[in-house]
Amino acid sequence: MDDTVDQALTQQTRRKQFDQSRLHMVRDYAETTACRREYILSYFGEIFTAPCGSCDNCENRESDDIDYLEPFPIGSEVIHTSFGKGQVMRYESDKVNILFETVGYKTFVTEMIAHSVRCLD
Ligand SMILES: [Zn+2]
Repeated sequence: MDDTVDQALTQQTRRKQFDQSRLHMVRDYAETTACRREYILSYFGEIFTAPCGSCDNCENRESDDIDYLEPFPIGSEVIHTSFGKGQVMRYESDKVNILFETVGYKTFVTEMIAHSVRCLD
């Protein structure tokens, strides 16, 4: 009986975390300076390589020839020491966004994840 209540509470907490991570994604979309087409397509699991050349950010970008780290391919399965299994969703300049089965979307500074994230593919 107690176990059932505990399980329901855990599930509810996870659900809330997941919903909140979605909200963060929407806020990030509003504030992003990266290609919006790539952003929205990656959210729905489609791979698109920016620039699209027609969204506001692509049109406003004067030059973007800085090479940022992209250690794992987009769409690849990774495992994080604290959050468990996830999928690489997208890169934005020096950051990487990963969708975790347990906690939803998380954004990390790419350079900082070398010790906590490992590729499973
Ligand atoms: Zn674009």
